[in-house]
Amino acid sequence: MSDTKTDGKVRKSEAEWRKELTPMQYAVLREKATERPFTGEYEHDPRKGTYVCAGCGQTLFESDQKFDSGCGWPSFSKPAIESHVDEERDVSHGMIRTEVLCSKCDGHLGHVFNDGPGPTGLRYCINSASLRFIHRDDMVAQGYGDYLDQVG
Ligand code: FE
Repeated sequence: MSDTKTDGKVRKSEAEWRKELTPMQYAVLREKATERPFTGEYEHDPRKGTYVCAGCGQTLFESDQKFDSGCGWPSFSKPAIESHVDEERDVSHGMIRTEVLCSKCDGHLGHVFNDGPGPTGLRYCINSASLRFIHRDDMVAQGYGDYLDQVG
């Protein structure tokens, strides 16, 4: 059963997610796996556009805020819209990190670190598998016209 409750959240059963997502997308978004460094499809992608959640389609990051961190994963200085990501303390794997999640479907995206080069000082280190890229020219056709108006 899929439904968007009044809080705007997307909630699906694990079986539904498993059916809709590729095995890699499922492992990252629903099981908090991390793709191996330097293996994701968007790590070196220079195209201009928007990265949306591979699970629910919510806009997450802009190519304008993407930078080459050399860490092996797509890296961004900040989210496209702050409220579109949630951040939670993560003490798994013997580290203290800040997990980054999609605020609409609670999908795991990656982690944020304080070693970024830009004015924010942040590095959102995000799994390619959690993202879907939409070229700027295709945004309106894919229903993201209001978003473009919002971010200018
Ligand atoms: Fe999502």
